[in-house]
Amino acid sequence: MNHFDLIDGVLHAEAVPLTLIAEAVGTPVYVYSTATIERHVEVFREALAGIDDPWIAYAVKANPNAAVLATLAKLGLGADVVSGGELMRARAAGIPAERIVFSGVGKTADEMALALREGIGQFNLESEPEAEMLADVAEMLGMVAPCAYRINPAVEAGTHSKISTGRADDKFGIAYDTALDAYARAAARPSLKMQGIAVHIGSQLTDLAPSRAAFEKVGLLLAALRAAGHAIVNADLGGGLGVPYDPAKPIPPLPAAYGEMVRDVTAGWNARLMFEPGRLIVGNAGVLLSRVIRVKEGVNRPFVILDAAMNDLLRPAMYEAWHDIRAVVPREGEMTAHVVGPICETGDTFARDREMDRVEAGDLVAFMTAGAYGATMGNTYNSRALTPEVLVSGKDWAVVRRRLPLETLIAGDELAPWLQQDQHAEA
Ligand SMILES: *Cc1c(COP(=O)(O)O)cnc(C)c1O
Repeated sequence: MNHFDLIDGVLHAEAVPLTLIAEAVGTPVYVYSTATIERHVEVFREALAGIDDPWIAYAVKANPNAAVLATLAKLGLGADVVSGGELMRARAAGIPAERIVFSGVGKTADEMALALREGIGQFNLESEPEAEMLADVAEMLGMVAPCAYRINPAVEAGTHSKISTGRADDKFGIAYDTALDAYARAAARPSLKMQGIAVHIGSQLTDLAPSRAAFEKVGLLLAALRAAGHAIVNADLGGGLGVPYDPAKPIPPLPAAYGEMVRDVTAGWNARLMFEPGRLIVGNAGVLLSRVIRVKEGVNRPFVILDAAMNDLLRPAMYEAWHDIRAVVPREGEMTAHVVGPICETGDTFARDREMDRVEAGDLVAFMTAGAYGATMGNTYNSRALTPEVLVSGKDWAVVRRRLPLETLIAGDELAPWLQQDQHAEA
């Protein structure tokens, strides 16, 4: 469900024509819909009805824009962060520290200290050396770190290999079989409070069975840990629920079906359930708006060359991801084309043999479902500026990340002393 619709022949974000934003801000530009974000939070909450006080920690990495985070903070969401930078963004957006959980395999001592001082709700630990480091840091600060271990349940999530995180040989979590010993060793450190258990098996999950299998393992371990004397009060079930990208494919399980499965598996757990949705909240709430630079004849197909490229939207190059590409002001007819960006890489290809709205040079197109893992993965390859971002709410819209001038990007570099002009002249 989203609020990007054709109104009088022009694609709109809520009540704002995308043509207007393209004219005012230039392209490429990301456009987010507040109503869609709010709707997704509501749908997810409804899906969890009957679960007592769920802790919903939005996965900041999906879309860390300050305005998006502030929108979610107003709705009362917590945050799942994976770096000190994300933690700072979540706090700056007004998300209370006690609703923040810190995930990730490579937390540094500095990041741990920052998170402890902020007073975050939970560290999800991913290895025993990490637990030892956190124990040392907390001890030094005279604090106690609230912790869970993330369990690697050794399941195939059935998603793209690069976003599968719960297979035995993936880098995430601790092996299920070693968990009891790991908790015992961690609990022996007075500066660690082992209060939870966590799991997250991957992203863009389109089948509930692997999640169910993982949660069942968590349930068994929860009982075993309590029997061993650990006061486990939180069970973090992670994120990962998929969203529809390709209308021709079966739609992923709806949040309601996910909620039903969770209620079923967790009945009797007597733990506070935690959730870390990212893509589900923001995926459908964003589009990447781009202009056709030109259409080039190809041997088999025309190439639609856009002003957006893989540096603006990396998912197709990185995950072979499929994004619907729509004309913002559709003309008559359709075409079959390769859709590419201007970057000097064959991988800078958004779609091959795509049946799409017919477009001509100067037309605007929108990449749908680009709100998650879009702008945040942007980079400046080929010395291209970072993509600006716009947030829409009803008939209002605002630039929520400016397009930094190329001069700013270039000015970040500095010449080594021996390369500076005047010295060169002296030599
Ligand atoms: C990426 C990530 C999420 C969010 O995944 P989505 O597929 O965006 O819901 C949640 N938890 C952890 C630990 C993650 O790494």
